Amino acid sequence: FIQLNNVNKAYGELVVMNDFTLSMKNDDRLVIIGPSGSGKSSLLRVLMGLEGIQGGTIHFQKQDYIVGDKDKRAKILDSTIQKKIGMVFQHYTLFPHLSILQNLILAPVKVNKMEKRVATEKARALLARFGLESKLHAYPSQLSGGQKQRVAIARALMLEPELMLFDEVTSALDPEMVTEVQSVMMQLAEQKMAMIIVTHDMHFARNIASRVVFCANGRIVEQGHPEALFTHPRETRTREFLEKVL
Ligand code: ATP
Ligand code: MG
Repeated sequence: FIQLNNVNKAYGELVVMNDFTLSMKNDDRLVIIGPSGSGKSSLLRVLMGLEGIQGGTIHFQKQDYIVGDKDKRAKILDSTIQKKIGMVFQHYTLFPHLSILQNLILAPVKVNKMEKRVATEKARALLARFGLESKLHAYPSQLSGGQKQRVAIARALMLEPELMLFDEVTSALDPEMVTEVQSVMMQLAEQKMAMIIVTHDMHFARNIASRVVFCANGRIVEQGHPEALFTHPRETRTREFLEKVL
C-alpha cells in the first residue's frame, strides 16, 4: 500500500529521517512512537506532501509518489495521490468564522466540485455518526476541544481519503475528552481505514495499532507487532523509552 525506501530528510544540518524504510498494508494501523524531536511529525508532513525529502522514494499503491530531490521543497510525482491522504493535527485547524457545516463542505464543494446539496447530506451523515448532529450550525468556538477534534476528523473524511494521518490529535485535550476522540479513531479502525497515528498515549497505541514503529534521533530503531514491541522490545533504546513513558 505504502512503501518508503531509504528516505532521507534534513533541516539544514539536522537529520530528521535517516534512511527510513517502512511499509504498510491497506488495512494497517501504523502507530509511530518516540521521544520529542525524533522525526514523527516530519514523517507525516512528508507523506502529506507538505515537505520535501532529500533522498529515497515513496510509493503509494505501487505508484511512484514522491522522490528525493536535494534542491526542491517537495518533489511530488503524482499529485492525485496527495488527494487520497487526509490529516488531522494536534491543534484543531477549523476555520473559526465558518459554521461546522461550512467547515465540512468547503473543500468538497470548492475543490472537488461536489454539489452543495450532496456535500451537505454527507456532512450531516458524518456528524451524526460521530454524535455531533446537533452542532451542524454551531461555530468552532462553541465546541469543546474533543468535539472540535471530532469535527476535524469528519472534515478530513469528507474528501474520502484512503489513508488518514493523525498527529497527536489528543495531546492538547483534557483527559475526559481524550476517550471520545479515540473512540472515533477506533471506529475508523474497525472499518479498516488505513491510518498512521503519532501518539504519546501508549495505552491507546497498544489498542489501536496493527504495527508499532519506534523512532529516535531520526532513525527507525525498531518496529513490530504491538504486543511484542511493548512487552519484549529488542533494542535497549526502545526499552529505555518505554520504561520512561509506561
Ligand atoms: P514531538 O514529539 O515533539 O512532536 P517529533 O518527533 O514530531 O517531535 P519533528 O517535529 O518531526 O519531531 O521534528 C524533528 C526535528 O526537526 C526537531 O528537532 C525539530 O526541532 C526539527 N524541525 C521540525 N520542523 C522544522 C523546520 N521546519 N525547520 C527546522 N527544523 C525543524
Ligand atoms: Mg510532532
